[in-house]
Amino acid sequence: MSETISMIPVARPWLGEQEAEAARRAILSGWVTQGPEVAAFEQEFAASMGAPHACAVSSCTTALHLALVACGVAAGDEVVTVSHSFIATANVVRYCGATPVFVDVQPDTFNIDPALVKDAMGPRTKAILVVHQFGMPCDLPAILEIGRRRAIPVVEDAACAVGSEIDWNGRWERIGRPHGLVACFSFHPRKLLSTGDGGMLTTADSALDQQFRLLRHHGMNVSDAVRHTASKVIQEEYPVLGYNYRMTDIQAAIGREQLKRLPAIVSRRRTLAARYQEGLAGVDGLRVPPEPEWARTNWQSYAVHVVAGRQRQIMQALLDAGIATRRGAMNAHREGAYPAGTWRAPGPLRRSEEAQDSAIVLPLFHQLTESDQDRVIAEVRRVVGGRS
Ligand SMILES: *Cc1c(COP(=O)(O)O)cnc(C)c1O
Repeated sequence: MSETISMIPVARPWLGEQEAEAARRAILSGWVTQGPEVAAFEQEFAASMGAPHACAVSSCTTALHLALVACGVAAGDEVVTVSHSFIATANVVRYCGATPVFVDVQPDTFNIDPALVKDAMGPRTKAILVVHQFGMPCDLPAILEIGRRRAIPVVEDAACAVGSEIDWNGRWERIGRPHGLVACFSFHPRKLLSTGDGGMLTTADSALDQQFRLLRHHGMNVSDAVRHTASKVIQEEYPVLGYNYRMTDIQAAIGREQLKRLPAIVSRRRTLAARYQEGLAGVDGLRVPPEPEWARTNWQSYAVHVVAGRQRQIMQALLDAGIATRRGAMNAHREGAYPAGTWRAPGPLRRSEEAQDSAIVLPLFHQLTESDQDRVIAEVRRVVGGRS
């Protein structure tokens, strides 16, 4: 190609001078891991989500692992979840030695189908792990009711859902109060808030929160903060098998600045998504994502669906036009890491597979300009409409 066109990326974190300054502050303070910045970030994050407790860890993957460990998930157990998610969702079940039991997704939101959950449960079911895919809240009331009837805890993979809201008895509540037993968030650069890498667990259960704190720090029964301020020698003990899943103070300092940006980020993404909904309405062979009346997604990803056989060709044509896209969510059961015997499914996963084969994630990020977005809209209309 002779002419150079500027590339529109699919996502980009919104980091600036404030974050750089915060990282500098943490570095120069001399306390660089799991110290005062982590404690402050936890408090501010909990307040922002409306959660009684928040515990910071190294990623959402480690958050999910701790959530399942704290639910007592162990070898021989089963966890009901979806295959149609980022692979970390299923992986954490296997970290516990347990088996993921995959159920299919709903055809509109591509979230777990509550109607299929009951049949997936058996005597070995230890937890239900739901995902708010791409930030779209799943049908929590229906899932929680199923869990309640069987006394099975519900863990929320809210990796993508920071700032998303759900109608809870007539009031908008943020995902992560949490509504299940625990919710897990990610601060990877592809999500709305980024600390480079990082994660958070929120819960209303203080005993559970204490357990997360123990497990993230090698199972050590005394925190660094207590040891640093003690006037008497303290000898720590290790009552349980723990992990090193700590968040650093440098990450937390960045996270505190990111959290201040959350309302602006969510609002901008919702504005841009509304422009996509309007600009891409009525294109033959293209379906825009619906938003249920009871949900306000943060649009962590904005995915359209095309005819399955055309996904790759359309993505290539858009790339040729300077527009980066990504395939939608994957399916763990189709990957080499998931041979037969490592998972089970009570029914077909047809809609999960169709979703993977038909979804295209379009560029959406805070700094995306309306003129660049108009270029995306025009190219998508041209390419999908086949008028190239
Ligand atoms: C990104 C993501 C994860 C993993 O988050 P990390 O912070 O990268 O570990 C887990 N589940 C879902 C649904 C995700 O999108």
